[in-house]
Amino acid sequence: MTTETGFTNVDHEFFHRELDAFLPDRIYDAHAHMWKRDWASFTLGADIQNVGIAEYDRAIAEIHGDRPTETLFLSFATPDHLDLIDEANAWTADQIKGRPACRGHFFITPQQDPEWVRDEVKRLGLHGLKCYHTFADCSPTWEASIPDYLPEPFVAVANDEGWTITLHMVKSRAIADPDNLHWIQKYCRSYPDMQLILAHSARGFQPAHNLEGLGKLAGIDNLWFDTSANCEPIAHQAILRLIGPDRLMYGSDLPVSHARGRSLGASDSFIWLYEETPVWGEKHIRIEPVMVGLEHLRSVKWACWSERLTDQQVEDLFWNNAARLFRLDT
Ligand SMILES: [Zn+2]
Repeated sequence: MTTETGFTNVDHEFFHRELDAFLPDRIYDAHAHMWKRDWASFTLGADIQNVGIAEYDRAIAEIHGDRPTETLFLSFATPDHLDLIDEANAWTADQIKGRPACRGHFFITPQQDPEWVRDEVKRLGLHGLKCYHTFADCSPTWEASIPDYLPEPFVAVANDEGWTITLHMVKSRAIADPDNLHWIQKYCRSYPDMQLILAHSARGFQPAHNLEGLGKLAGIDNLWFDTSANCEPIAHQAILRLIGPDRLMYGSDLPVSHARGRSLGASDSFIWLYEETPVWGEKHIRIEPVMVGLEHLRSVKWACWSERLTDQQVEDLFWNNAARLFRLDT
């Protein structure tokens, strides 16, 4: 049987075998997307065109079971649809209106006026900023320096307003790159009321980069991490051990969670294995890849186990750290 979002019996068996007994009773998903087909080529099952809060709720239950889930949604845009960025931000804001524990990040481009962004985020009732390297004015953008896609004046506005910013850093060596380290340290120290979230466990898809660089970020009070989509347990462990268990938040990265495959560290880099990547036949057997969100959650489970986290600390990772950052009690 295949569900509307493409989950099969193999996925459901994995969930029950690996995850159901591990996951806490409630989950804060600190990194997920919503979108319309007009501006994003994501797919979530063949028949779902637009993913708003209702579609998200149904889809996320595939990897969370029936646990209550609240979410930080990151508005999504691509340079191919510049004219639809405003609509994407408005759609994200509209979708979370009835959900006071949800949060939304406004998608910025480096070409926008930071003062216009300040007014728009307030007008829409959103809570922070999302940037992405594909809008940087350099080539290739995956080697962009952080200010190329998150210029300092936006960070200053976030500091004034007490906002959060989700940063998916690039460059081949991620947090082991001195330029990335410099800008993260500078932004966090210069703007202490801005809260910076490093996505994908500091984009440590190659965990060696986290082991090399993260120690230099210890003790920064306004720095946070989401685990999203990273399937390497050591990437999360490096954060838990070098930064602390009160700084790491779970994130699904839906729709990535609902693609089949996993990330895999290799050499001094990483690769993504997808369903169609021709690696799943191993001598005498055929391996059935499961959904990324399931592999991801197992990597978080293994990190918690290896770091001997208490039940309370696991609940912190899946709820309390996000609740503190997003001030859910106020
Ligand atoms: Zn994402």
